[in-house]
Amino acid sequence: MLRIPSLLLFFSCGAVTLHAQADSDSLLVRSIYDEALGHGEAYENLRTLTKEIGHRLSGSQSAAEAMDWGKSVMEAYGADRTWIMPVTVPSWTRGTIAEASSIGADGAATALHITALGGSVGTPNNAIVEAPVIVVKRLDELNPESGVDATGKIVLFNRAMDPVLINTGAAYGGAIDQRGNGASAAAASGAVAVLVRSLTHALDTLPHTGALRYRDDAPRIPAAAISTVDASWLAHALESDPAMNVRLQLNCEAFEDVEQGNVIGEWTGTVKPHEIITIGGHLDSWDIGEGAHDDGAGVVHTLETLRILKAIGYEPQRTLRFVLFINEENGNRGGKEYARQAGIENEQSKLVHVGAMESDAGGFVPRGFRIDASDAATDVVRGWRALFDPYNVHLFRRGGAGVDISPLKTLSPRPTLLGLSPDGQRYFDFHHSSQDIFENVHKRELELGAATFAAALVLLDRHLPSPE
Ligand SMILES: [Zn+2]
Repeated sequence: MLRIPSLLLFFSCGAVTLHAQADSDSLLVRSIYDEALGHGEAYENLRTLTKEIGHRLSGSQSAAEAMDWGKSVMEAYGADRTWIMPVTVPSWTRGTIAEASSIGADGAATALHITALGGSVGTPNNAIVEAPVIVVKRLDELNPESGVDATGKIVLFNRAMDPVLINTGAAYGGAIDQRGNGASAAAASGAVAVLVRSLTHALDTLPHTGALRYRDDAPRIPAAAISTVDASWLAHALESDPAMNVRLQLNCEAFEDVEQGNVIGEWTGTVKPHEIITIGGHLDSWDIGEGAHDDGAGVVHTLETLRILKAIGYEPQRTLRFVLFINEENGNRGGKEYARQAGIENEQSKLVHVGAMESDAGGFVPRGFRIDASDAATDVVRGWRALFDPYNVHLFRRGGAGVDISPLKTLSPRPTLLGLSPDGQRYFDFHHSSQDIFENVHKRELELGAATFAAALVLLDRHLPSPE
């Protein structure tokens, strides 16, 4: 008879504890959203980053200025210590000339909207290249057995992003081989240059740049992004005028690598200071536009998270690291170096990297999270559904947490990785184009993203199980 009341007592205490925890979590999350929406500084920080510093390609003077600025904001917001983790980054400029036009059999010229792909060589002697054009949709169309002869030609890669995929990031990933590997595939079959259809669902006249990778076993040929409207028009025009040529001129230039670095601010935990949770975005951007969504938004989400948690008087249990990564766009050397150093810390300093979060999908209204974690840790994160429901944050999907934090997957024990997942339907309208500017970021959506990012960090800090 004695055992029944004690069992009842046990269950009721457990229930009270769980309720108290859920109540304190929901109050904490509410206070974070209140601070972000009522007193937010993310939007003004984004204005400073994009309008005063501007675009920030790795190796550029403006990227160095952005590093100094990010470090000073972390200091002003109360990080315990800040430092730069040195990273050697590429240095490349697209130059001042990016011109292309089609020349019909009747001699009529039509200007095409293009820009160099990141890392492209210029045209030989920076002079005009003129050649006939072939259109392909897949890289394997250039294989010798396909019978296509690209010798002496300009190859137009014209496969659109798949419009039926709801996840625009997956549509982007499904088309990116043309931009990343198209130049070398075409060069290996004799082509003299490539044009790559811009990676966007939008039908407009904006070229969207992005990195390419040259293979060592093929000549390096000039490569440019062409707008979707121009790519469709050119492919169509070639059907009725197959003798049409394209003229292309680029004066891109590569320089010696330079030393820049990841900007890091640290806030020491009060309960488990040897356990590290990293949160970040990337400071570098492409050199057209202002890098506002990609990834100015992630930068100011990261800085705002530090500010919000200080403002509400939060005391972190673990050590929080706020990181502005360098060189995500054309090498990911910042993310790789951070993971390499984290591995050394795991081995040598009795620290353990238990979690990391990234914001690099734009400043749009937050939908939820992408999770790269063990089953047990994924269950912990999915247990937050009720806490985020009042904020219309509902997506808790596995995979694709982010480029900068993904090298941390190799650590042992494996950290829990989360990517902030905003609505992606319009992201690629602006991505890597001249329209990725401050004016195209919405203040309230940016602030909601910052609040969601900060709330997830707090929940990770409070509830992520420690490694055994
Ligand atoms: Zn990015």
